[in-house]
Amino acid sequence: METIKTDVVIVGAGGAGLSAAIAVAEQSPELKIALISKVYPMRSHTVAAEGGAAGVIKPDDSMDDHFHDTVAGGDWLCDQDAVDLFIEQAPLELTRLEHWGCPWSREKNGKVAVRPFGGMKNERTWFAADKSGFHILHTLFQTSIKYPSIKRYDEYYSTDLIVSEGRCQGVTAIEMRTGLMQLFQARSVIIAAGGAGWMFPFTTNGAIKTADGMAMAYRAGVPLKDMEFVQYHPTGLPGTGILLTEGCRGEGGILVNKDGYRYLQDYELGPPDPWPRKKAMELGPRDRLSQAFWHEQQKGRTVSSRWGDVIHLDMRHLGEKKINEKLPLVRDLASSYVGADPVHELVPVRPVVHYMMGGIHTDIDAATPLPGLYAAGECACVSINGANRLGSNSLTELLVFGRRAGKHAAEHARSNPNSSDSEISQKGTEARQRVTDLFLREDSGENITDLRKGMNETLEAGAGIYRTQDSLQETCNTIDELRQRYTKVHLGDKSNVFNTNLIYTMEVGSMLEAAHAMAYSALNRTESRGSHQRLDHPDRDDEKFLKHSLAYYQGEGSPRLDYLDVVITRSQPGQRVYGGGEK
Ligand SMILES: Cc1cc2nc3c(=O)[nH]c(=O)nc-3n(C[C@H](O)[C@H](O)[C@H](O)COP(=O)(O)OP(=O)(O)OC[C@H]3O[C@@H](n4cnc5c(N)ncnc54)[C@H](O)[C@@H]3O)c2cc1C
Repeated sequence: METIKTDVVIVGAGGAGLSAAIAVAEQSPELKIALISKVYPMRSHTVAAEGGAAGVIKPDDSMDDHFHDTVAGGDWLCDQDAVDLFIEQAPLELTRLEHWGCPWSREKNGKVAVRPFGGMKNERTWFAADKSGFHILHTLFQTSIKYPSIKRYDEYYSTDLIVSEGRCQGVTAIEMRTGLMQLFQARSVIIAAGGAGWMFPFTTNGAIKTADGMAMAYRAGVPLKDMEFVQYHPTGLPGTGILLTEGCRGEGGILVNKDGYRYLQDYELGPPDPWPRKKAMELGPRDRLSQAFWHEQQKGRTVSSRWGDVIHLDMRHLGEKKINEKLPLVRDLASSYVGADPVHELVPVRPVVHYMMGGIHTDIDAATPLPGLYAAGECACVSINGANRLGSNSLTELLVFGRRAGKHAAEHARSNPNSSDSEISQKGTEARQRVTDLFLREDSGENITDLRKGMNETLEAGAGIYRTQDSLQETCNTIDELRQRYTKVHLGDKSNVFNTNLIYTMEVGSMLEAAHAMAYSALNRTESRGSHQRLDHPDRDDEKFLKHSLAYYQGEGSPRLDYLDVVITRSQPGQRVYGGGEK
């Protein structure tokens, strides 16, 4: 196996990975950086983000408001020291992107424009039309190529962390073009491998979001934090799950049921609020809007369509000019994928899995408990998102914590020498064996696609928008069984060059591990908080569960669960309303 010696290795070249790479290169030009990605960087999921990135910029907004919106939106499960750091850094990071060439949309007077977003009391979401993620990622990518110390390994699939002498000292990765396994030896490692939406059947996520980074850290003994918190986005296109940005509602789109009734007025989504809207309505937090869909469905007031139950998003009153100017991609997507032109027609939508609040446990410096290992972006849990992320906080999080991961990983690399090559290469050989075993297995009749479908179905049915003890227990049992069956899966395709069967099989393996942690964490949390709603435990229980859950990998057995106090600095848990605070 070839060994590539470098100083910092980064798994993932989306918004978080590129931000981290640039930070290392800027601060420590002498350090060599290996940037590994299973797809070409511009195909990372960050490119698909539409709505925008939050950061206080307008005089009528305030850091306090951003803090309280985030903490209350997260149902007080956010670590408040991390939120404070995040909101302070947010405008600086977004301005830095502006200087690097990000074409933020403008007001008539030339100032940066911001739009309203769900759960945010004030307008603070910076956007570049409805292609914000594309422009952010492109800006980061073009900036990254200025730095000679960043060496890219595109289309390399990373499989395992290398832990030697109690420190993380590299990763193994398969070069997909040749099928060869390579060992990247480094003094620090950053995981920025994105989320895990593909565990579920309906998701806005790109097909590459398969929990690989989470599973790598988990198997290496790093706990996964708050995995039970899964965000549904209320407006995905039925069938494909493609997202229609919250910007649709931010710009004035409304949701109506089969009677054409604006049903959100019947639900408690936040108090009347002085700023333009009378009630939160369509701009209530995502979890509440998705739950309202479920209730409408129970009452038989959703619309039956060829894709199953949907509700309608009405944007017709916005007019063609505004839709073309502010939401061109939305018009294109709705017309192409469900045949509904929002200028003239109602667009069918339904809740779809969008974002994982949980992930690799890190502290405020993006450091995990394993020395030398850092994590940032959607695969990580700092946590600023708590039990429910507010839309547009994630893109900014990539910048703030990607940079922080880069800074601290660089410091670690500078002060820690490599340890013995022989132990590292032994670990590499063990990792390669895991892959070789897949090639050697005989056909047992187990089919990887059946396993994926089984996982998708059991998570949606048992660990979806609403959960119960029974539904979760059944999901845990099913995932246990699927993990067992996974050990018998063999590869139909044993070739080396671009073996997609191999990659897909490994991705399903990663997802089963993350799903396992998720299902057990959800079963154990007998309260309702944010996106985790238990019909059998409808209330929040701060006494027992104002805590992060930590799931530790236990091989074949169920994960070991532990709990960690939430950092509360200046907002005591209160009723979840806009503006947060003691209300
Ligand atoms: C459709 C959509 C719209 C969104 N809109 C918004 C929005 O408007 N505002 C907002 O704040 N948030 C939004 N989000 C959320 C936000 O975009 C994501 O959380 C964020 O972009 C994730 O960035 P990331 O860098 O963590 O991961 P990604 O951008 O997903 O990148 C992951 C990287 O890891 C690599 N990788 C993964 N596994 C491996 C492996 N095994 N080996 C090697 N490489 C690997 C991939 O190749 C990729 O480069 C949206 C999400 C979606 C899906």
